[in-house]
Amino acid sequence: MARIAVLKEFASGERRVAATPETVRKLSALGATLAVESGAGAGAQIPDEAYAAAGAEVGTAEQVLQGASHVCVVQGPSPAQIQGLQPGTRLIGMLDPLGQRARLDEYAAAGIEALAMEWIPRITRAQTMDVLSSQANLSGYKAVIDSAAVYGRVFPLMMTAAGTVPAARVFVMGVGVAGLQAIATARRLGAQVSATDVRAATREQIESLGAKAIFVEKVAGISGEGAGGYATEMSPEYQAAQAELVSGHLAKQDIVITTALIPGRPAPRLISDAQIATMKPGSVIFDLAVAQGGNVEGSVADTLVVRHGVTLMGHGNTPSHLAAEASALYARNLHNFIAAYWNRERRELELPDDDEIVQGVRLTRGGAVTHPRLLSTARS
Ligand code: NAD
Repeated sequence: MARIAVLKEFASGERRVAATPETVRKLSALGATLAVESGAGAGAQIPDEAYAAAGAEVGTAEQVLQGASHVCVVQGPSPAQIQGLQPGTRLIGMLDPLGQRARLDEYAAAGIEALAMEWIPRITRAQTMDVLSSQANLSGYKAVIDSAAVYGRVFPLMMTAAGTVPAARVFVMGVGVAGLQAIATARRLGAQVSATDVRAATREQIESLGAKAIFVEKVAGISGEGAGGYATEMSPEYQAAQAELVSGHLAKQDIVITTALIPGRPAPRLISDAQIATMKPGSVIFDLAVAQGGNVEGSVADTLVVRHGVTLMGHGNTPSHLAAEASALYARNLHNFIAAYWNRERRELELPDDDEIVQGVRLTRGGAVTHPRLLSTARS
């Protein structure tokens, strides 16, 4: 019978947790035994008692890992932290397969079957399991809220007897899941919002949220959705045209939120120091990509950097700043993945080899790293 262990996160600053009392109940109802490490939910304001009341065993890491067939985490643990697991145990989490490539060899050597949730394919059937979307959505919201707090001025247009206060101008660069939520949040706060992306398909999405689309017209961007809905690195001609277009626009902005990412590559550089110098003092740039190399020259994770009177900011782990909701959504993503492949009679998780989602997430199996994307990647 499946025994699902849920660990307290090891990474510093990680406040999320991979299961909530709600998902403990749902997974128990499938017939699994749930074992949650004491204190696992503390960062997300979930006390041990709530897990116990939902039917989980609560104990030390050693106790919960004892006999576990599955281990659920937010970030991948070091192999030493989960040693002693029986071969075939599944590790389910955001394992950062490219960034933590060496660790995967150790998981494989320990016989662990590692499943990377961030590699769930972006297909309709997998939408409820899509951890990147659930976390990016919250990140887009949080970026606006936190930059609004640092920006010492008002967002909405205010017409008062003493005169009119103009609306803040917010520019969102990169309109994926996080960018769309950033646009919607900034609009709700009353800002005048504009946005840009390299994917032409986002123009309509930007406009449907009531924002102004700012697009490079001279050089073609990505038509359609790109591979798997993702952007690729742009040509030098496109980058030059984008820099020219954006330069004039940036100078008029109060808040800029950058969210641009390219899977498997460092984040593209969108704003240079020279462009920051053209902005008004007191403006704020929130670099949501700061942990992936940064879209903004000079931005430093978890540090307010002031350049030319403009504050650059960005969190190393944005969803962790909304740990309760981020955990609730992440835990539901994990539950939806497990429930989709659950054999109710055998009360076991069965992952078919020929399934597109399983093929997308399975990194290691039978003592070896098996994912094609990793076999073609040099070990770090
Ligand atoms: P992401 O986090 O990889 O990137 C964020 C945004 O940055 C993307 O819109 C990307 O085009 C943009 N970007 C990259 N380089 C840029 C540059 N140089 N200048 C400006 N913008 C740049 O993206 P994401 O949030 O993961 O979303 C990617 C796509 O996948 C979106 O179209 C989204 O709607 C789609 N999606 C589909 C599903 C599904 O069908 N199941 C689920 C989630 C997301």
